[in-house]
Amino acid sequence: MTTVAPENITDTPPPPLQEGRLYAFFFDVDGTLAALQAEPDAVSIPLIVRDRLLALSQATDGALALVSGRPIAQLDALSAPHRFPLAGVHGAERRDAESQLHRVTLSEKVVTPLQNMLQQGMSAMQGTLLEAKGMAFALHYRQAPAFEHQVLALAESAVEKFPGLQLQPGKCVVEIKPQGTDKGAAIRAFMQELPFKGRIPVFVGDDLTDEKGFLAVNAMQGISVKVGEGAGHAHYRLNDVADVYDWLEQLLSQIKHNNVGKGSRL
Ligand SMILES: [Mg+2]
Repeated sequence: MTTVAPENITDTPPPPLQEGRLYAFFFDVDGTLAALQAEPDAVSIPLIVRDRLLALSQATDGALALVSGRPIAQLDALSAPHRFPLAGVHGAERRDAESQLHRVTLSEKVVTPLQNMLQQGMSAMQGTLLEAKGMAFALHYRQAPAFEHQVLALAESAVEKFPGLQLQPGKCVVEIKPQGTDKGAAIRAFMQELPFKGRIPVFVGDDLTDEKGFLAVNAMQGISVKVGEGAGHAHYRLNDVADVYDWLEQLLSQIKHNNVGKGSRL
């Protein structure tokens, strides 16, 4: 779990975009572009917001990606009819701007017994939900918060038993994923490729899973934006998902106001 110094608490909204600078945008999805719901399947991004993302992508030569714990198939469904570069499962799978897929896999020798162990453990805790993502597992307890400690203990024992795995705690969820995959690594990978390369990275996220992403963009002199309450490594804050939607509109009007050509400069 990330430890946070009190001086990292900020309430400053993100700064206006500077004329003549080139930006790349990275967005978490749940809790950032989509309000959290009791069931992960009930989450959606309003069409007007999806259209704002497309407009922002077009204004940055396509330098906009979604960076989420969800598999990329779900991210495509949530952002349809548009299609963006994506990092799914905390970067364990990534589709770059050229539509090339990069995927970290776990051996079947690990996946099958790990899934059996988790299924057995979770089935004893009514209201919890096990989500299999191929190379990762999410142990949800939003509907059964009393099981928080047992779910965490189960996840910890799984990571101890099987090599090459790490834990990723989140809001009412604990994830088990391959070691070395995180949102910071995913953002760094995008930033080495066009059209992201050479731009100023902006990353917006709301949860513990986003802290590595904040650190990565801070190290690149980028703009890190935390959505909602809580301390963290982000330098700026937006209060909630509705604020993110408003901010997207502001970004687009800044671009228009700056009289910048479509598909060129911000
Ligand atoms: Mg989130």
